[in-house]
Amino acid sequence: MADLKVVIAGAGGRMGAANIRAVAALSGLAVHGAVAGSGLSLHAAVDRPGTPAIGQDAGLFAGIGALGVTISDNLDAALVGADAVIDFTAPAASVALAQKAAKLGLVHVIGTTGCSEGDDVAIAEAGKAGATIVKSGNFSMGVNVLASLVKQAAAVLAQYDIEILEMHHAKKVDAPSGTALLLGHAAAEGRQINLASHSVRVRDGHTGPREEGTIGFATLRGGTVVGDHSVIFAGPSERIELNHRAEDRAIFAHGAARAALWAKDQGPGLYSMADVLGL
Ligand code: NAD
Repeated sequence: MADLKVVIAGAGGRMGAANIRAVAALSGLAVHGAVAGSGLSLHAAVDRPGTPAIGQDAGLFAGIGALGVTISDNLDAALVGADAVIDFTAPAASVALAQKAAKLGLVHVIGTTGCSEGDDVAIAEAGKAGATIVKSGNFSMGVNVLASLVKQAAAVLAQYDIEILEMHHAKKVDAPSGTALLLGHAAAEGRQINLASHSVRVRDGHTGPREEGTIGFATLRGGTVVGDHSVIFAGPSERIELNHRAEDRAIFAHGAARAALWAKDQGPGLYSMADVLGL
């Protein structure tokens, strides 16, 4: 079977570099200098005009040796002949890309976080219009298993207060993290409540006592932390904490590559990493 031809969007970013390394590793490009036929191949790498990475060889940019694919700012040209896009960019870019993926019938793996409700509606529409989309606030296996444990614990520990704590590197631009929200949704699902109407995203000043049944979020930023998440179930005289620590962005990139391979055998629509992993 032919390799899935993948375009990396946001190639000049932190996740872009990790995605280039993951696709190269899975296609054997980095090792052999040629496509080995194991499922994925790097078709193109793109970023927005003005990004310093434009014009560089994708492999050299990602620190793995030349791949013969130059990072470009011409998205439309990059999509010609492609099968899939792995996109860790920014909300407006991901919405626009989903619409292009719908027109071209592409697989679109979206790791971008910070999407508004309106962005999510537009992305779901693109799934109905012909794109095969896998969107997740976290593509690591560990976090998706954690979410399933959180859902279970939230259902059983029905009276316990739930607090979600996250820490990320100083350059992260959205809060709470996509992963914190993913874990919040899992907890809300376990409780059979709506997250939006039960979440407390900020506390400041004289807040009064904690409102029962809410799900609280706390955000820390600093240094180079790849992503730490804790879900705390606080009950009478005991506390359960479920933690995940990301040590390398490779866990997200390998999950995204796996999602692209899975999606090529699905029909158009909007899927999650839980669908990919069968959770
Ligand atoms: P980054 O700032 O290092 O990289 C983002 C890249 O996207 C930049 O190179 C930027 O130029 C590019 N970009 C922005 N707008 C663009 C556009 N219109 N067209 C093309 N490229 C564009 O950020 P990062 O740390 O790599 O994270 C990127 C996104 O992925 C963030 O939303 C982050 O929260 C998310 N993320 C998700 C996961 C996950 O598993 N879902 C994991 C890590 C990060």
